[in-house]
Order: sequence, then C-alpha cells, then structure tokens
Amino acid sequence: MAEAINERFCIACGMPLRSPADFWQGDTTKDYCIHCSREDGSMRSYEEAVVGMGFFLQKTQGMALEQAQLAAREYLAKMPAFQGQQ
Ligand SMILES: [Zn+2]
Repeated sequence: MAEAINERFCIACGMPLRSPADFWQGDTTKDYCIHCSREDGSMRSYEEAVVGMGFFLQKTQGMALEQAQLAAREYLAKMPAFQGQQ
C-alpha cells in the first residue's frame, strides 16, 4: 500500500482520518478518531474499544455478542495503540 504523507489512520481502530469531523472536537493533532475518543477527549482503553467494536460487529454482522467481542479483540490487538494486548 502506497503511503501518502497526508494519509493518516486512527491508531486505535484503523479508520482513515481525513477531515476535522473525524476527530474529537475537530482536534486534528490527535492520533485517534472521534469513535475512539471518550467524552473528555482521551483515548478509549483496549477493553472499552473491544466492547464498542463488539456491539458494532454484533449489529452490522449479525454475530453473537461473544463471537463479535472475540473478533474485535483479535482485530484491535493488531492496532498500533494496542499492540501486545490480549
Ligand atoms: Zn478510531
């Protein structure tokens, strides 16, 4: 994959960061997206991200919650923000 200088991705979920709307309060200095931000603007923990993505997969993929959270755990463990997590 070619790497453009301006192409940035959320370190916690891999979502492309293209516009200020992708960031918490439009803060483009952050490395993570609005979905991975808490209400105070800090980044979600690994466990919080697993729960959030688990619900997302359950809804969008029709997976059982347990299976969805397992898939989320596997996916998120590969993200730069969570490398080495189990
Ligand atoms: Zn994100």
